[in-house]
Amino acid sequence: MEFRDLKRQYQKLKIQIDAVVHNVLDSTNFISGMQVTELEKQLAEYTGRKHCMSCGNGTDALTLALMALEVKDGDAIFVPDFTFFATGETPAFAGATPIFVDVEEDTFNMNPSSLEDAIIAIKKTGKLLPKAIIAVDLFGQPADYDKIEAIAKKYGLFLIEDAAQGFGGNICGKMACSFGDISCTSFFPAKPLGCYGDGGAIFTDNDEWAALIRSYQIHGKGENKYDNIRVGINSRLDTMQAAILLVKLQAFREYELEKVNHVAKTYTELLENLVVTPAVKSGYYSSWAQYSILLQSQEQRNRLQAYLKENGVPSMIYYQKPMHLQNAFQEMDCTYVDLGVTEKICQRVLSLPIHPYMEEDEIKTVVGLIKNCPDF
Ligand SMILES: *Cc1c(COP(=O)(O)O)cnc(C)c1O
Repeated sequence: MEFRDLKRQYQKLKIQIDAVVHNVLDSTNFISGMQVTELEKQLAEYTGRKHCMSCGNGTDALTLALMALEVKDGDAIFVPDFTFFATGETPAFAGATPIFVDVEEDTFNMNPSSLEDAIIAIKKTGKLLPKAIIAVDLFGQPADYDKIEAIAKKYGLFLIEDAAQGFGGNICGKMACSFGDISCTSFFPAKPLGCYGDGGAIFTDNDEWAALIRSYQIHGKGENKYDNIRVGINSRLDTMQAAILLVKLQAFREYELEKVNHVAKTYTELLENLVVTPAVKSGYYSSWAQYSILLQSQEQRNRLQAYLKENGVPSMIYYQKPMHLQNAFQEMDCTYVDLGVTEKICQRVLSLPIHPYMEEDEIKTVVGLIKNCPDF
């Protein structure tokens, strides 16, 4: 069994994907082909954002968002403690200090009251300037934007949505990648909408930031790329990836998102009363980047993972370590609030195989193994 079966997806879409890849090869328009513009148009329309700028990967998307907001040395950026490293890495890379915020045990997403505690604590020390919040749509479910947007407003902070795992989710019909000031996503192959290499995108409704990001991502271009009016980076989505994504976006919209939700629902029905299953808030829709359960202890989690592996079922620990315990942050003063929930989750969490092409009997195999796991 595959953790995320990209081969099955390719087999299903092979004829179309091979054709568009050959088109790009024939055109030799490898950078900035018309497929890139078309994809950006469709992504903006799908998410309900005014602007979409595709770029090299999700990490660059976050970096470009922080550049547009002029995040720099002395700024405090509030980031969940339970996330992929890039969420905390990018503010640190910009010279700012990531301040880690605890998460909710049931949804794994940023806890708004922990966020407010962290903002108040930073204001009290007076050393850093509270500048922005990066909320993460972890495992596919949008963060609690009702509450987080209100907190951003109350304290005058920018809000960035890290939707690297959240593309396709929504809250009462409002799509992921449309929350906050700027949203970022990733098209890394294993993300809900993945390409065949690295890729990412940035979304905003603000014309000025959109123009700035378009400039920053092409060497700070002015009139053209040989007229350089600021120092930027080089981060583009190439034509081949855009062409592949156009095919995959259609499948994603037509059936993949619905199918992966069906897989998650089946898991939850079969696993109830056996393990703690992931909670989706009322009115929220997840794109199920991961299906993550909680076990009773680290020992039980590790035992189950070993047992699944012995029986040919891959599983992953997202994430092994809270951000505040990563070596890279040990020299920085990043912790101002209790991060006990994240510490507990890191010991007990386990992500099971999930993807839109998972069959009912495969789900039952995984659940059967969890049921039969010795000394459980
Ligand atoms: C994957 C991921 C990123 C980074 O995306 P890349 O395309 O791998 O650079 C950022 N944030 C989160 C939450 C992610 O899961």
